[in-house]
Amino acid sequence: MKSKDRIRVCIRSRPLFSQDSKDAFIYSSSSIQLKQSISNVPSSYTFDNVFDSQTATSEVYDTVCKEIIEGAIEGYNGTILAYGQTTSGKTHTIIGNPESPGILSLTFIDIFNIIQSKRREFTILVSYLEVYNEIINDLLDPGSINLRIREDPTEGYFVSGLKQLVVRNPKEAVEILEFGEKQRRYRATNIHEHSSRSHTVFRILIESKDIDGLIDDGNEIRIKGNMRFSVLNLVDLAGSERIGDVGNTDTSETSHINKSLFVLANVINKLADNPNAHIPFRDSKLTRILSNSLGGNALTAIICTIAPEINNVQLSISTLRFATRAK
Ligand code: ADP
Ligand code: MG
Repeated sequence: MKSKDRIRVCIRSRPLFSQDSKDAFIYSSSSIQLKQSISNVPSSYTFDNVFDSQTATSEVYDTVCKEIIEGAIEGYNGTILAYGQTTSGKTHTIIGNPESPGILSLTFIDIFNIIQSKRREFTILVSYLEVYNEIINDLLDPGSINLRIREDPTEGYFVSGLKQLVVRNPKEAVEILEFGEKQRRYRATNIHEHSSRSHTVFRILIESKDIDGLIDDGNEIRIKGNMRFSVLNLVDLAGSERIGDVGNTDTSETSHINKSLFVLANVINKLADNPNAHIPFRDSKLTRILSNSLGGNALTAIICTIAPEINNVQLSISTLRFATRAK
């Protein structure tokens, strides 16, 4: 697989909030176009997939995410990121609600279905953290704030002391997610302001062990007890209005309100350009946390969400520009 094929970039537009407002875009299955042209701004943008406001999260999941989840079960790391301005539908996409399950719920349903048919013994562990103002907080452990990142010579970066819980079915996973969300609400003085500034990383660790004796599946011979590990990150990013202008040539970090988001944009651009170049994972907490599952053999999907009203068009264009640079 070519490195370009390992990063899939898609756009998802949400429904208009009011009947009186107008959608600034025209959609097709792989392109999005401005209805009214703006000087010095490209009118049309092409991506792996474009989902209009009528598309269900389950279709986004099947088209963009399923392959990554299947890969993770086979031992490949994966990352799914939701990027976009506040109110564009990131949380709706990743977490969703009981009427419209998000990618996380769909992922767990799939994981527990798929592993039933494998002749391996699986353990699924989850953790849930937020990065807020470059501070890492454990959302599954109320007392655990300001966690450190440490570096292991073989494993790379890891968050020291992060709580990991075993989950045995999709219901348990959703309960853990809800617990974490409650923690977040409880800690934040203003949850809306907080969620527009913070990144949340829901991490799924998939461990598996061969239960048969010698297995020769044509590709490799596996031995009983052989272990595989993979990490799957589902990331609800801070609002992209926090990044400043990614097209801006002024790259001084201090001019950017949200350092992690800015560095992530840089990392993704570099991975898309040349994955063998130096990738600046070190430059922020979030990118260090994600470093093992971005680039290399990992599969990545970036779901860029759009608030399609005309009054949001500048921020939407900035999101489309970010998405274009990620390809
Ligand atoms: P963000 O997390 O990017 O700030 P939200 O996910 O909270 O945005 O979405 C803002 C509002 O729009 C929420 O009320 C959400 O339920 C609704 N919404 C977002 N995307 C969709 C969608 N695809 N279909 C229906 N409602 C959506
Ligand atoms: Mg949100």
